[in-house]
Amino acid sequence: FHTFTKAQIKAAVAQAYDEAKQVTGGENAHYIPYLANVDPSLFGLSVCLADGTRFSMGDTSSVFGIESVSKVPTAALVMEQSGAETVRKDIGADATGLPFNSVLAVCLENDRPSTPLVNAGAMAACSMVEPQGQAEGKWREIRQNIEALCGSPVAVIDELYRSESATNFQNRSIAWLLKDYGRLYDDVEMSVDLYTRQCSLGVTAEQLAIMAATIANGGENPVTGERVFAEKLAGPLTSLIATVGFYQNTGDWLYESGIPAKTGVGGAVLGVMPGLFGVCAFAPPLDGAGNSVRGQAAVKALMRILDLSIFDAR
Ligand code: GLU
Repeated sequence: FHTFTKAQIKAAVAQAYDEAKQVTGGENAHYIPYLANVDPSLFGLSVCLADGTRFSMGDTSSVFGIESVSKVPTAALVMEQSGAETVRKDIGADATGLPFNSVLAVCLENDRPSTPLVNAGAMAACSMVEPQGQAEGKWREIRQNIEALCGSPVAVIDELYRSESATNFQNRSIAWLLKDYGRLYDDVEMSVDLYTRQCSLGVTAEQLAIMAATIANGGENPVTGERVFAEKLAGPLTSLIATVGFYQNTGDWLYESGIPAKTGVGGAVLGVMPGLFGVCAFAPPLDGAGNSVRGQAAVKALMRILDLSIFDAR
């Protein structure tokens, strides 16, 4: 970590945490009871450097729903299994500028779902996971890939999974539309279920910081030493995060923060600073686009305090 001492980074994490703690506003996701009932005061900020050193403040061991952040590891998995070009051809790599669950995302880009980081493309990605046709085999791959990226076990939050499954009509509709366009590559209901299950996984901010650091470190988990995906996939994967990680607010996010990041309605913001570090801020209350209010504040503050941006010419 070229120009900073570890003490400076530690102090920056503490300062970013303290600043963001003052930020209020937003509401928990309320489309299902589980998310609505999570303690809205939970707040954690965790940073993992590309050498595996970690700095954590606040509720970084609290388990919460990974939700849409799960789109990132499964994109990495299908890129690793089928190659980045196949994923680009069969799903796409363009921003949608639309909300996470937009049906229109299906129809963009010559009937492709556009990107594996919105619901349409994420379900298409689940449908691409090998072994084809085998729900449990695919699930094992999805879960084990997430565990390899985090460096520790993860498990489905059953209550979350049940609520998501009972209310995911829009996702099912998107999936059937994809099927009609020839853009869903395995059983439809199975693909929706795999996506719903991966969204319902419980994770901690520390685990997601390690996942982000693994991406920042070119696919090798800096804590466990395991190579999770090929180094050449890190750039393409990070570009997907940069273009659509905040859905319709992605441009403003990237402009203001200078770091590619992916959010989830569980309250996570996962940021990837290539070659340097991964960060995860977690706080349940969300803004109108479904992005954590405090999580955004914490990651932005960290970048400002460290005076960093991926666009910096220095
Ligand atoms: N389970 C949610 C959905 O697919 C995830 C949304 C999100 O985190 O943006 O509807």
